[in-house]
Amino acid sequence: MSETLHDTFGRPLASLRVSVTDRCNMRCRYCMPEDEYVWLPRESILTFEEIARLVQVFAGLGVHKVRLTGGEPLLRQDLATLVEMIARVGGGEGGGGLTDLALTTNGLLLAKHAAALRRAGLRRVTVSLDTLRPQRMLAFAKSARHADLLAGIAAARAAGFERLKLNTVVIRGFNDDELADLVDFARAHDAEVRFIEYMDVGGATRWSMDQVVSQREILDALSRAYGPIEPLQENGHSSAPAERFRLPDGTTFGVIASVTAPFCRTCDRSRLTADGAWLLCLYAEHGLDLREPLRCGATNEALAALIADAWRARSDRGAEERLGLPRRGALYQLDGLRADPHREMHTRGG
Ligand code: SAM
Repeated sequence: MSETLHDTFGRPLASLRVSVTDRCNMRCRYCMPEDEYVWLPRESILTFEEIARLVQVFAGLGVHKVRLTGGEPLLRQDLATLVEMIARVGGGEGGGGLTDLALTTNGLLLAKHAAALRRAGLRRVTVSLDTLRPQRMLAFAKSARHADLLAGIAAARAAGFERLKLNTVVIRGFNDDELADLVDFARAHDAEVRFIEYMDVGGATRWSMDQVVSQREILDALSRAYGPIEPLQENGHSSAPAERFRLPDGTTFGVIASVTAPFCRTCDRSRLTADGAWLLCLYAEHGLDLREPLRCGATNEALAALIADAWRARSDRGAEERLGLPRRGALYQLDGLRADPHREMHTRGG
């Protein structure tokens, strides 16, 4: 395999999030608060063959972790077939191929698909779970399907995925009184919860700093409930966004402090939208269009050269730049999002 590619800050190209659809069956207030959206044109959506080919090219350049996301990835018909195709991807000349293939989902359709996804070669699943209270989910995400979400978590556990994770976006006045309950729920389901600071990305048009519950506050609340919390020493250099902690009884959990302590310095992630735009940062204004060259007959070598040049020139540190702003509000308002749906979190993939 070619030598690891590094950007201008020495960050390797290692991890790729692939959004397989911009559609979602929930309307979370922090991501998709509107009922209707400007959707990506159907003919622009990459086919499974096109996605698998791009993943192959990325793998040849050193990407070894792939996460499927969206929108809601389980709305993409026959996702297990795509998983099977990606699971077969090798690493290029002498390369080792993928070390991780994961999925982020809201869980509503997971009970139906978990076993087939596991058989197809999916290794890990992260389920978003913001509240344990069905009425809160209805008010906050316009979904009455809390029972389906719980069934999805149970099915993921039964299917035998490695290290099941639960993602909780913590928002003041919404679910910040459920932190200990979510830790208990995760423990009871052999899962690990990761609390995410509410970010001012894409569709979070109602974002304000006072709704962000910081990592510090999360740790304080949990140590009041459980006693002293110990940070976990991860082996070696970690590029994972979550900092992990241990409670006195051994239960572990993570916090993703993307707002108050951004991790741009170690960010090895990039994102491919469902229509083939490649984004080098969650906050990036524009992506590199890979669909056009792909559909115009570019060879894998030509695609690899495009990607490698863009990564070598990468200098994005979006979350740190946002942190440096004197006054901070939502990144976009509705008209800005409607003008370019690629700015939406559900298009670029969380
Ligand atoms: N539909 C899937 C799901 O719900 O997990 C995958 C897509 S969703 C955009 C991926 C992740 O992004 C979810 O865990 C979600 O909670 C997170 N997310 C979306 N908007 C966010 C925001 N404003 N701040 C923090 N996390 C956010």
